[in-house]
Amino acid sequence: MNSLVEKINKLKQEKNAVILAHCYQNVEVDEVADFVGDSLYLSRKAKETDADIIVFAGVSFMAETAKLLSPNKKVLLPRLEAGCFMANMINVESLREFRAMHKGIPAVCYVNSTADIKAECDVCCTSSNAIDVVKNLGSDEVLFLPDTYLGKWVESQLKGKVKVHTYNGFCPTHLRLRAEDVKKSRLEHPNSKILAHPECHHTVSELADFVGSTKEIMEYVRKTNFSEYTIATEKGVFDRLQRDYKNKTFYLLSEKLVCQNMKWNTLDDIYNSLLREEHEITLDEETSQKAMACINKMFEITQPVLVK
Ligand code: SF4
Repeated sequence: MNSLVEKINKLKQEKNAVILAHCYQNVEVDEVADFVGDSLYLSRKAKETDADIIVFAGVSFMAETAKLLSPNKKVLLPRLEAGCFMANMINVESLREFRAMHKGIPAVCYVNSTADIKAECDVCCTSSNAIDVVKNLGSDEVLFLPDTYLGKWVESQLKGKVKVHTYNGFCPTHLRLRAEDVKKSRLEHPNSKILAHPECHHTVSELADFVGSTKEIMEYVRKTNFSEYTIATEKGVFDRLQRDYKNKTFYLLSEKLVCQNMKWNTLDDIYNSLLREEHEITLDEETSQKAMACINKMFEITQPVLVK
């Protein structure tokens, strides 16, 4: 066994720590992770765990969300550089301008946003529950931020029942895909099912066989019996599917589907972060309370309340 893995596992026991890893992380991180999944799953695990320390192998907005849900736990981000390009496309000032342009319309923020942004919005969502959140909000119009493509995809799925005004943010990783990439892939692998994330450009999503969140893409592969799948989301998902389903063939739609920010965290970084308890996430009380109200609203309107 890798001695670094052993050392991390020993430290976890000594310090009563857990490691949460997003599916876009380098796949070797799974060797030390207690839970691996998408943002919503990891948010729930952060809340449920009775560990004293959470090491979040992901990007900063995820670690912030874990801190919001577990205010009494120490939440560590192994590498401070691990931010999210999309989350950083909006700040409080630009959000207020956006809201001022559409007065009286509730604002839905994607979980891929900072705590400051969540604190100024009415309800949060993930890519797994975005349709339900917008539908259950009961408003004819909503503001959706920061991702314009997820917002427009939600609007298309609700078939005109809700007008979605989107902010102009996007995920540079998913936006690297073009419709031409999908068409080329179809020609190369005509029997393969193309599975895309709703953060992709709409011209890509429209050509896919299935559009869904990270979790939904993984569920689709688990529940179906096709022999070939083409993955149109971050490479970490492709790596895990390839590792877990040896009897199925996977293609990554493009080698460009790598989020550099998600790849910062190495096993060394995780070890050092846990050993020194460094890069702790801290949030001020007022921001935390308002951001939690935004997250709680998501749980309230999509399922039984998990967080009081
Ligand atoms: S894949 Fe896109 S949305 Fe996800 S962390 Fe990277 S930049 Fe942000």
